[in-house]
Formats: sequence, C-alpha cells, structure tokens
Amino acid sequence: MKITFVTSNEHKAREAAGILAGLAEIEHVSMEIPELRYESVAEIAAGKAAYAYSVLHRPVITDDTGLFIQALNGFPGTCAAYVQKTIGNSGILALLAGFANRSASFETGIAYHDGKYQKTFTGSIKGTIVIPRGCGGFGYDPIFEVDGKTLAEMTSEEKNRISHRAIGLHALRRWLADERC
Ligand code: IMP
Repeated sequence: MKITFVTSNEHKAREAAGILAGLAEIEHVSMEIPELRYESVAEIAAGKAAYAYSVLHRPVITDDTGLFIQALNGFPGTCAAYVQKTIGNSGILALLAGFANRSASFETGIAYHDGKYQKTFTGSIKGTIVIPRGCGGFGYDPIFEVDGKTLAEMTSEEKNRISHRAIGLHALRRWLADERC
C-alpha cells in the first residue's frame, strides 16, 4: 500500500519510511499545515491529517510532536516547534539554568486518514535535557539524552528502536497490518 506522509519536516518522513518499510511505501509530500492549538499531540495530528486528506484525497499520515520539560511545568509542550524556531536549544538550556531536575519527555501523535478510517496513535519516551552532543537527528535531538546517549548521538536505527515517533508508528503499523479491514 502507498501512504503519503504529509509534513514539512523531511526527517520525520524518513523515520516513518524506515519503520513502515515492507508494509507501506511512504511518499513524502511537504506541506505547511495550519496547526490547530490543542493540548494533546494526538488531537493536533488528527487535525493535520483531516486537513491533508481534504487537500490530497489519498491515504495520509501526519505527526505532531511535543517536548515536555518537568522543571518548566511541561513547557514547551505542544508549542515545541515555535520554541525551537525562536529560542532554540540554547534558549531551553538557559531557561533550565539552576534547575537540578532535567527530566523531560517527548510525545508524538501519529494520525492516519484515508477518508474511511481516521485513527490516531501516540508514543512517548522519557529522557534528560543535557548540553548538546551528537551530529545526527534534528530539532531537540542533541539535548535529549536517553540511557547515556543523546538522540543525536544515535544512529537512525537506534533512534527508530526507542523513539516516541517509532512507538506511535509501530502502533500504526500493527493496526494497518492486523486490524484494518
Ligand atoms: P512539530 O511536530 O513539527 O510541531 O515539531 C515540534 C518541534 O519538535 C519541532 O521543532 C521539531 O523539530 C521538534 N521535533 C519533532 N520531533 C523531534 C524528534 O524526534 N527529535 C527532536 N526534535 C523533534
């Protein structure tokens, strides 16, 4: 089956193609989708999928990801894209100066829409915010550490084994393979 991953972020589409390989062929369409403001990544992803389907009229997947930092009461949360664009990783580290608690989590909502079925899946991982390390990945990857390695220090295979996005995409994969009828 062929599914279109609609995102302006090519990294997300590449990660999805790796995880869905063998089941679905992923075509990447880059589109700026108006982002609805909800507190949950699943609801935002579902809104993006409904919009993308209304434009493309073919099976689509969308993704919305949030970063939740415990010491900052969950900031930037679902505003992670705006915060990355404005203050970036160095701004996050500046906000955390003086805080001993560096715990954070990533959450991803994955939405599928084909006109008949609309499904959302979520995945999350816990980690620690650290001084940037590593050259791989994108976005917050260099400052997000899991088990001693930042996501930017992992190979794409390593990140795809544990990441928030991978968990959501594996749930989608299981549903596409087993339950959709
Ligand atoms: P959005 O899902 O496109 O709104 O992305 C939220 C923000 O988090 C963007 O700045 C992305 O670059 C960043 N982001 C999304 N997924 C990841 C990831 O897997 N690792 C690191 N940063 C990410």
